[in-house]
Parts: sequence; structure tokens; C-alpha cells
Amino acid sequence: KKIIIAIDGFSSTGKSTIARKVAKKLNYIYVDTGAMYRAVTYYAIKQGFIKNGELNSEGLISALDNITISFKMNEVSGIAEVYLNGKNIESNIRTMEVSNYVSPVATLSEVRKKLVEQQQQMGKDKGIVMDGRDIGTVVFPQAELKIFMTASVKTRAQRRYKELTARGHNLDFDAVLGNVTTRDHIDSTREDSPLIKAKDAIEIDNSDLTIEEQVQTIITLANK
Ligand code: C5P
Repeated sequence: KKIIIAIDGFSSTGKSTIARKVAKKLNYIYVDTGAMYRAVTYYAIKQGFIKNGELNSEGLISALDNITISFKMNEVSGIAEVYLNGKNIESNIRTMEVSNYVSPVATLSEVRKKLVEQQQQMGKDKGIVMDGRDIGTVVFPQAELKIFMTASVKTRAQRRYKELTARGHNLDFDAVLGNVTTRDHIDSTREDSPLIKAKDAIEIDNSDLTIEEQVQTIITLANK
């Protein structure tokens, strides 16, 4: 029987790596909801709704109907990539600029409403692994399996730094640590759908776990 697996947690806990592998093993669909918030943020930057460090919330909200987000499988990498109005933006959404504005954008209720509706639609046939911040609490409160991933902030910043550096970004470790800390704070204190562990979620602290160990743990829970 196919189920819904919700994986939530703080920034850079490795949720997407684990979620993607779990989905592959179970032959499920994987949806990275962070990529959707990042896509809206990228759109806001491109359209000038974010300028000189200021977010024009009203402008962005009134333009939301012009945003269509979709995912399409890259057959070579086996990764579902994110598209904004038909254009592949997978390589544009993990920059520091997008990372610095995504959490303020994600506080807007209108943005959340639009994306949550689309996410619920994607999960209606089950057989889905979705990762984010509010999947087990808001998007799929009825999910059969909920995981809440944690790790120390230093471990997480180190992971993100390694990942970005490997992708050729030239940046400062403190900037990455600062971004992770700030996003944690904004995500867990916003009014609409703050990041909290669902009551029935199973917490996994992965500071000292390998990727394979985590994937196996979740597969075992899913098969119960
Ligand atoms: O998962 P990722 O780190 O790419 O998410 C980027 C940001 O998008 C988060 O820091 C959070 O502000 C927002 N987000 C959210 N709800 C989700 C997924 C992401 O608010 N379900």
C-alpha cells in the first residue's frame, strides 16, 4: 500500500538527499517544496519585487497568478528539476541571494496558500515523499509517516558550505552559518505555519548518521 511520507526539519539537515533516496527505493515521487519557495523568490528578484534588500510583498502577492511552478525529471541525473513558467531554473535557486530572501518570502500567507494547494494536489495519489517545513503539520497532517530531522547548526552549516563550494560558489563559511541561523529563526517564528515538529513525527538527529543509515531507518518505518 502506497503512503505519504512527510519529512520536515531545519535548513540543511540533509532532508532532500535522504528524501530523494527513499523515494527512489520505494519507487515513489519525490517533491522538494523548498525548491518551490525558492522559485517564487527567484521570480521576485527577477521581476524587481526584491530590490536594495527590500521585499515588496504587495507587489509580489499581486503577481502570484503569473507564477507557474512545475517539476520535470532530468533523465540523465534522475533528479526532478524545478521549472518557473516553463523555464528550467534548477541552477538559479540555490544561490546565496535566493537563500537570503526565501524565508521572508515564505512568511507571506498568500504564497504559502498557493504552494500548499499545489503540494496537496501532487500528493493525492499517495506514493510520495515530500520534504519541507510544514509537510507533516499543514500540507499532509494525515501522512502515514512523519519524520523530523535535526542536526547541530554547525554540522548543518558545514554541510551547506561543502555543497555550495563543490558547486563552484565562492563564499565565506560565516555567511553560510549566518544564513542557516537566520532562516531557522524566521522559519520557526513566523505566524503562518511555523516550523514545528508534528506531535506524531519521529525525530532523527542525523549529526552522526550516514546517509545510508538514515535512508534505511526511514524505509524500515515505511514498511511497518
Ligand atoms: O528546503 P530549503 O532549505 O531549500 O527551503 C528554503 C526555504 O523555504 C526555507 O528556509 C523556508 O523559509 C521555506 N520553506 C517553507 N516551507 C516549506 C519548504 C521551505 O517555508 N515547506
